[in-house]
Amino acid sequence: MDNKRFSKNDSGFICINCEKEVEPLGYTSRNHCPHCLYSLHLDIMPGDRQNDCNGVLKPIQTELNPKKGFVILFRCEKCGAELRNKAAQDDNQTLLINLTCYSFDENKKSKRKKSEPEPW
Ligand SMILES: [Zn+2]
Ligand SMILES: [Zn+2]
Repeated sequence: MDNKRFSKNDSGFICINCEKEVEPLGYTSRNHCPHCLYSLHLDIMPGDRQNDCNGVLKPIQTELNPKKGFVILFRCEKCGAELRNKAAQDDNQTLLINLTCYSFDENKKSKRKKSEPEPW
């Protein structure tokens, strides 16, 4: 038996943050969770898996690049490194939009209903 089918870099994984199973992407290496956008600090160069930090990469911001689409900015919770990755086709669009730096409703935090004081 040979296990050559695992030689490709594009493998599925279980997300460390939301614990959902992430399917291989198919067209490029999957490098973050499409559900919550979290990733792991595994690469020095994208896809090389040569970094032994293994910290959790938290998505802190997205940028909308006119050519590439969404680019996600991550910060490693372990070593503090910041890195960017292109969003994948099946990433959670709502999250991508919520993290965009051009957020128009910074000041509209009142959207969330404050718990009203009890009437008595
Ligand atoms: Zn996830
Ligand atoms: Zn790190």
